[in-house]
Amino acid sequence: MTRLLIAGGGPAGAAAACGLARAGARVTVLERSVGPTDKICGDFLSVEAQHYLARLGLDPAALGGQAIGQVRLVRGAHVVQAALPFRGLGLSRRVLDEALLHHAAALGAEVRRGETVPRLSPEIRFLATGKHDLHAAGRVLSSAPEPLVGFKTYFRLAPEQMEALAGAVEVILFADGYAGLQPVEGGRANLCLLVHRDRLARIGGSWAALLDDLRASSPHLHARLAGAAPLLARPLTIARVPYGFLHTPAPSETVFRLGDQACVTPSFSGDGMAIALHSAALAVRCHLAGHPPQHYHQHLRRDVAGPMRRAGTIQLLGRGTIGQALLFQALRLWPGLIRRIATATRIAAPAWLDG
Ligand SMILES: Cc1cc2nc3c(=O)[nH]c(=O)nc-3n(C[C@H](O)[C@H](O)[C@H](O)COP(=O)(O)OP(=O)(O)OC[C@H]3O[C@@H](n4cnc5c(N)ncnc54)[C@H](O)[C@@H]3O)c2cc1C
Repeated sequence: MTRLLIAGGGPAGAAAACGLARAGARVTVLERSVGPTDKICGDFLSVEAQHYLARLGLDPAALGGQAIGQVRLVRGAHVVQAALPFRGLGLSRRVLDEALLHHAAALGAEVRRGETVPRLSPEIRFLATGKHDLHAAGRVLSSAPEPLVGFKTYFRLAPEQMEALAGAVEVILFADGYAGLQPVEGGRANLCLLVHRDRLARIGGSWAALLDDLRASSPHLHARLAGAAPLLARPLTIARVPYGFLHTPAPSETVFRLGDQACVTPSFSGDGMAIALHSAALAVRCHLAGHPPQHYHQHLRRDVAGPMRRAGTIQLLGRGTIGQALLFQALRLWPGLIRRIATATRIAAPAWLDG
């Protein structure tokens, strides 16, 4: 039996390794990190992400995931709150990604750490390197990436603020960007945000200046961070994320691209991990059935194109002054719209794979 190679051991690569190993395939994951790492992410696990983890035999709540049932949209001094149409979970990527890789190994996959794959070779059957493009396998973008810069860090909030945040994800709108604040395991809060690079440059370009600026413009965030201790020496950052990218395979393509290598959904909806896990399940199923990558990519497009387009519209509204005002007023008048948005920006339940 040929050994299947997977480049990248994030949620997509590790989940594919679990699925293949469980089906009896000989599989190796090549992951460049040597051990647990923090990753830039809001750490929000949606209901469909939880579905796919449960399908693999992993319980994210048992890993310390914090239940999230409410969403609060914050603009200046105003807040609207609504129930999510599902129970989300806040779980750090350091814990989740490591658990998935351990699970893959327990199911019989070979997991090789500290292995950086330099280029796409014919032996690689599944490409799951996330935001990182391999030489000779770069993603072909139809437009330039949005000029957004992402930051992520953890805080230990003051006890009364942590209590006030419990059970909710807070989306804080500010000029030229938005931030998400939510609890994760270990009594910590994840602050993850996107800001237009011009605004960042105008206020001096540093994380410290940005944080001061956000605290000054948002009484809500100011209150949340009063007495908070930052837990990372410096925040994680990212830029030039190709939001909206959806891969179209060449007729000769022999590799299954998974997760962010196949499609990059705008982060506002917080569904990238679910899409990564869905893509892994779908690719494994197609591979085992003898279908070519083209068949898989077509199916994936059918499942994710609509939610990604709608997530793009919401992200666009969420980061501009007029769009923010419209979004906020609409949600103020009709808080139930949050449920509609949360449902419309993620993979529809009938498309989830079982078994
Ligand atoms: C600002 C921001 C916030 C987000 N918030 C959320 C959220 O709250 N909820 C959500 O569901 N999604 C969120 N996402 C999206 C989510 O992070 C991604 O969609 C998801 O991580 C994709 O998983 P993946 O396995 O495809 O890629 P990744 O998670 O990027 O994993 C890729 C793996 O490949 C490894 N790798 C890379 N290059 C190589 C190489 N050359 N050789 C070997 N290994 C390699 C990396 O070390 C990594 O472990 C967010 C994204 C951004 C940018």
